Amino acid sequence: MYDYDLLVVGSANADLVIGVERRPGAGETVLGSDLAVHPGGKGANQAVAAARLGARTALLARVGDDGHGRLLLDSQRAAGVDTVGVLVGGAPTGVALITVDPSGDNSIVVSPGANGRLTPEDVRAAASLFQASRVVSAQLEIPLETVVEVVRSLADGSRFVLNPSPPRPLPSEVLAACDPLIVNEHEAKVILGDSAVGETPEDWARILLAKGPRSVVVTLGAQGALVASAQGVTRVPSVKVDAVDTTGAGDAFTAALAWKLGAGSSLAEAAAYAARVGAAAVTKQGAQESFPTAAEVEAR
Ligand code: ADP
Repeated sequence: MYDYDLLVVGSANADLVIGVERRPGAGETVLGSDLAVHPGGKGANQAVAAARLGARTALLARVGDDGHGRLLLDSQRAAGVDTVGVLVGGAPTGVALITVDPSGDNSIVVSPGANGRLTPEDVRAAASLFQASRVVSAQLEIPLETVVEVVRSLADGSRFVLNPSPPRPLPSEVLAACDPLIVNEHEAKVILGDSAVGETPEDWARILLAKGPRSVVVTLGAQGALVASAQGVTRVPSVKVDAVDTTGAGDAFTAALAWKLGAGSSLAEAAAYAARVGAAAVTKQGAQESFPTAAEVEAR
């Protein structure tokens, strides 16, 4: 019996957003809108998305001993995430400084801060959380050696889901643990690197699968997704919605998929549900603010 349906290991950032008429060039100062501060970071987003769907969720992350860290802890707790694994201190909370112009184009500077200080030792110290979790998910906004330690810490019988974002080449030990590896087109291309051959998402999925993961999911935005495993490659139907803001869609998709897999769904069933959750998330502004409850997914 597991205490948690999902343990998310990853980043927590404060997103500091200012609207501007024109993004500044070198040496230039421009005036912008009032500052908006949103809880974000892929780890924090996935944990909130899963908890909102009803998954018993824990987050292993690191924030600073500062106001942004408290904002992140509050948003996790408000969504029902267990924050026993959120470590505090060592560096300022990670921050994304975002300027957005009226056309929606943005410029972003990320300071990883405390995310960069989530160490393999922190993972080893959280062994009891791993023993208590049916599914573990991670992303790459924390050090790669920490993700390697996550893979080594998985309990017997638990399942590992990785969204390699931001993408970089992965050691075979990490690839072999993924069930599934979840990538969008850009991430697929970076991970495949020079070995990329073939034109279609089905091709990328097959080539990625040959690199060792037990299964692969390729997300395709408004076109839905596809899943690949030893059983073959299957398209997951897209869900038609009026998209308002796609921020966080991938995080919502990953969280929903991980939760459904833990609940016993097949990969294709879990991905079909995740596509409904991702589609719901793009109908609202923001990331965490846009994640649906299970009842909202059913009602659509
Ligand atoms: P990422 O944000 O990582 O690039 P995607 O944009 O592929 O990921 O979105 C993840 C999933 O969310 C998609 O596979 C799809 O199921 C859903 N989704 C994203 N954008 C849309 C959209 N415009 N309409 C319907 N579903 C969408």
